[in-house]
Amino acid sequence: MASRLASIGVSQILRITALASDLKRNGKDVIVLGTGEPDFDTPEYIKDAAKCAMDNGATKYTALDGTPELKGAICAKFKRDNGLEFAQNEITVSAGAKQVLFNAMMATLEPGDEVILPTPYWVSYADIVLIMGGKPVFVPCQEANGFRLTADDLVRAITPRTRWVIFNSPSNPSGAAYSEADYRPILDVLLAHPHVWLMVDDIYEHIVYDDFRFVTPVALEPSLRNRTLTINGVSKAYAMTGWRIGYAGGPRALIQAMAVVQSQSISCPSSISQAAAIAALNGSADIVTERCRSFQARRDLAVRSLNKIEGITCRVPEGAFYTFAGCAALIGTTTPDGECINSDIDFAEYLLRSVGVAVVPGSAFGLAPYFRISYATSASQLEDACQRITIATSQLS
Ligand code: PLP
Repeated sequence: MASRLASIGVSQILRITALASDLKRNGKDVIVLGTGEPDFDTPEYIKDAAKCAMDNGATKYTALDGTPELKGAICAKFKRDNGLEFAQNEITVSAGAKQVLFNAMMATLEPGDEVILPTPYWVSYADIVLIMGGKPVFVPCQEANGFRLTADDLVRAITPRTRWVIFNSPSNPSGAAYSEADYRPILDVLLAHPHVWLMVDDIYEHIVYDDFRFVTPVALEPSLRNRTLTINGVSKAYAMTGWRIGYAGGPRALIQAMAVVQSQSISCPSSISQAAAIAALNGSADIVTERCRSFQARRDLAVRSLNKIEGITCRVPEGAFYTFAGCAALIGTTTPDGECINSDIDFAEYLLRSVGVAVVPGSAFGLAPYFRISYATSASQLEDACQRITIATSQLS
């Protein structure tokens, strides 16, 4: 295998998933709280648009970084939801937000270039940077600051080699989101460091709770527009993870460079999925709002139940569908089998083996001792899982 893969280890997420599958195969009743996708189905009107597109012959290659019709819908979305004006040649469409990110990194990173990652971070950010020969710079974000990066921490992390800083609000894994007041001091730091580019991953934009007002940095600081890539997609808001459509708005030169990368990799996103994405973006927001209410009820259930468990603390997340709970008080305890819980990895493994609940240790996202649960699952499964976690932790001594 190529040496560029050597820096990427097997992730804790894959390890836990593999263990959960093994246990399931052996007949154990396992509740998996690890998935990063909505449990809802894609709305019917979106599926209908895809069927209609196929019937009307939209089955060929398209323009390489998105059809003009989809780019038009994306421009309208950015204007409507975020107050951002983009021309079509400032928009790129790819096979998911992940591929957008991959294209951007491939188009811009030289070996050794640094990318600042507020930590806990979505695992793919670090791995994509490593694949490109770049250097992820992990900056721990304390729970006391809501798992958000502070301006001081950002200043300390910037070096002459810094190429990008990535913000993901609401965040996977912490669910933390940046308000206008949270972003302001950070944007001021960026204004003072013109060589640093800003990548924002707004994929969970529509999944926010308690009247939290989502904002995206360029809307707050338009002068950063010529060095910001604003990434979004239809996977999470419209339950379209399998359709693989993500998009971004950014400076024309960057968008063109990303198109070059795309032209020699996927050629273009799926024609049918692009037609479906147009229907999603142009459709009514009602279904998104309704599903968000359902996620909020499950978030409340998860946070309430976790906080009742001795040794576990859980901050109330502003968005996405994850809780990032602390288990510091359980480190150093012993299981009924006499094994010591030395880390959040041990704790996650103990939960899986003892009561069949699969969670992802915070270490997988660069911050310990925590564990992430995805509450994009039914309320009854969530209740069952929390009861099982209560039993498992009560047996630690
Ligand atoms: N960004 C974040 C923070 C995510 O959590 C995910 C998926 O889990 C993605 C991007 C990928 O989205 P897509 O399905 O559009 O590739």
